[in-house]
Amino acid sequence: MDNYTVLRVIGHGSFGSVLLATEKSSNQTFAMKEIRLLKSFSDVQNCRKEAVLLAKMKHPNIVAFKESFEAEGHLYIVMEYCDGGDLTQRIKQQKGKLFPEDTVLNWFIQICLGVNHIHKRRVLHRDIKSKNVFLTHDGKVKLGDFGSARLLSSPMAFARTYVGTPYYVPPEIWENLPYNNKSDIWSLGCILYELCALKHPFQANSWKNLILKICQGPIHPLPALYSSKLQCLVKQMLKRNPVHRPSATTLLCRDHQRIWRTDIR
Ligand code: ADP
Ligand code: MG
Repeated sequence: MDNYTVLRVIGHGSFGSVLLATEKSSNQTFAMKEIRLLKSFSDVQNCRKEAVLLAKMKHPNIVAFKESFEAEGHLYIVMEYCDGGDLTQRIKQQKGKLFPEDTVLNWFIQICLGVNHIHKRRVLHRDIKSKNVFLTHDGKVKLGDFGSARLLSSPMAFARTYVGTPYYVPPEIWENLPYNNKSDIWSLGCILYELCALKHPFQANSWKNLILKICQGPIHPLPALYSSKLQCLVKQMLKRNPVHRPSATTLLCRDHQRIWRTDIR
């Protein structure tokens, strides 16, 4: 901790806070996630997993890991600072003004590239939502918050209790089926919908009704500004049966992109 100067708090979470800090030796700015370590060994091991998994991911669309260390009952994860805030904040800033389709697609493809990178390494993110997607001033989009991520070989218990309303949790989870790579795709589909409609695909006044809508409710069409191709893509990603959703690799292959992009043939 002596190597860094803390400037201010930039985010809060279930675990503690995210700090903006400069490294004294290089004068570089980083985001520093401060996680309170609980007494139990298994909890501590669980927190360390986030750092271990993030450290393994190196991709322009994944928040870059610098280092992690433990001090005074806390785990610190030092990572690249994304100065454009998170996607939830960005969507709110629009105050109802729709994003152009090419902006939506540009961001969406960047998130897909990040998701494809982790899936190829058999890692599931399990908490893909606009609040965990970060932006930089030069238009880069990065997937962050690996606090719920798991390697596929480990038991698939949905370990972390959800904070906030679980808008992005796929139907199979409510039906007690295992989480798989297509579950991340559902959540990615929810982000795509949110980028277009500036609201969640499923909304309700109670948890029970929200879960009912996620599992069987209608998916309202996107605003008319968006192409029917994009409309189709959202529907594919929000298929109730995970088998029918495209994988990240499929989404990115050129033949598939022809289906959902109006700008390539
Ligand atoms: P949690 O596990 O509580 O969701 P996150 O890792 O998502 O924690 O961080 C919480 C918030 O802190 C984010 O929603 C974002 O606003 C901010 N934040 C986290 N990491 C960064 C980063 N690398 N750059 C900029 N802001 C960040
Ligand atoms: Mg988060």
